[in-house]
Amino acid sequence: MSPLSIKINAVFDEPACEKNRSKDAKARQKGCSKPLTPGAAAGGCPFDGAKIVLQPITDVAHLIHAPLACEGNSWDNRGAASSGPTLWRTSFTTDLTELDVVMGQGERKLFRAIREIKEQYAPPAIFVYSTCVTALIGDDIEAVCKRAAEKFGLPVVPVNTPGFVGSKNLGNKLAGEALLDHVIGTVEPDNIGPYDINILGEFNLSGEFWLVKPLLDRLGIRVRACIPGDARYLDIASAHRARAAMLVCSTALINLARKMEERWDIPFFEGSFYGITDTSEALRQIAKLLVNKGGDPELIQRTETLIEKEEAIAWKKLEAYRPRLEGKRVLLNTGGVKSWSVVHALMEIGIEIVGTSVKKSTVEDKERIKQIFKDENHMFESMSARELYDMLSEGNADIMLSGGRTQFIALKAKTPWLDINQERHHPYAGYDGMVELVRQIDLAIHNPIWRQVREPAPWEYQPALEEELPGTQSGPETLHDFERASLQQPAVSASVEVSR
Ligand code: SF4
Repeated sequence: MSPLSIKINAVFDEPACEKNRSKDAKARQKGCSKPLTPGAAAGGCPFDGAKIVLQPITDVAHLIHAPLACEGNSWDNRGAASSGPTLWRTSFTTDLTELDVVMGQGERKLFRAIREIKEQYAPPAIFVYSTCVTALIGDDIEAVCKRAAEKFGLPVVPVNTPGFVGSKNLGNKLAGEALLDHVIGTVEPDNIGPYDINILGEFNLSGEFWLVKPLLDRLGIRVRACIPGDARYLDIASAHRARAAMLVCSTALINLARKMEERWDIPFFEGSFYGITDTSEALRQIAKLLVNKGGDPELIQRTETLIEKEEAIAWKKLEAYRPRLEGKRVLLNTGGVKSWSVVHALMEIGIEIVGTSVKKSTVEDKERIKQIFKDENHMFESMSARELYDMLSEGNADIMLSGGRTQFIALKAKTPWLDINQERHHPYAGYDGMVELVRQIDLAIHNPIWRQVREPAPWEYQPALEEELPGTQSGPETLHDFERASLQQPAVSASVEVSR
């Protein structure tokens, strides 16, 4: 069995994953990939998944060993933000051609590309991603990376995630394995503190972690490494010296959290920064873990004081939106923690939730939804585009919160829509993030454009148009007729101009 197959089998057999534990040995071997639906998009490949997890490490050069299209498809397709370096957004690829493949030039080209990046950009590390083509032709990226690291004196990290080995989620986990194998624990920090934590699976989309970090700063808690959002290579390399960790997106990096606990005794919990209650609960859990690891117990009281103060401020700000949003109906077509974590705060200010999608939710997520709504009627597993369109065009919701994929269904149904997934442009984490979400809902629902788009189109005003067009015996029958009739209008005013 190849080293990659051994790694994949190990990743599939994740003891920290509750869903995985409930499977028998045979089902476990198949992993979590769902069978593809004919006609539906297949979703990202493992290379894409690994790139999503690692690209937000901002000072690293990410080099894709592949024909051009792999990088073209996956480059910068998420809104992670950096507070400093911009190298991560520069696209590097070996751009393998047919001739390179036929002539067996792949490994040589990769080595040259690593040298070029080192000489021109001098990054603290280079991450090299394998893809379908380079794996199929047998390029040994591990050997090339090892040789380049020795020759150029900088870490060159192989990320072995060819597209054909499984799903995007598998790629997320293989990215975590690459960090464990080649990065974390390779640098000893000289500033270890009793309140150092890691945040795992936080991508800093639209800079939303910057709404949470000031809360931790006020408690004297230092984020040693946020993996991967706005991360620096050296922070991740020394992440093994943190005292505790919070796992934000469990499906992506649960293997990383579990193995860091086993190897370096870093306890972790799963939490969320979406919604007021969850942000408070996450802060409590962080404080508790740090105290369990030897921190001063007064941290717990300080955390409670901060929570009380921040919650009061957030609820006061949210209350201001009640008169404008009370009774408005929201359809949540997202998944995971967002399917329930924002619901409580929305309901608290009088917004009605007409449904929430649980397609990507875990068993615990579904339990939480049941507790909030006291029934299962508000959950829907998945809705086809047609069903979604019918629901929205019949006016059963005032706004849909979802990802970009369903954006045009809402717009076609002339219904306000707000992006709540990874391509969003506004930060929604923490207390301030929840207020921002409600503000954006308010702006979207009350945008005057909806009044205009819901008005009948000009060609639907047939009787009025007949009156406006002198000499027209019968109104325009088709759009083509209407356009022709409209074109006559400037001609009339032009002739008036000439006669003067
Ligand atoms: S790695 Fe394979 S599946 Fe993924 S983008 Fe490249 S060619 Fe496509």
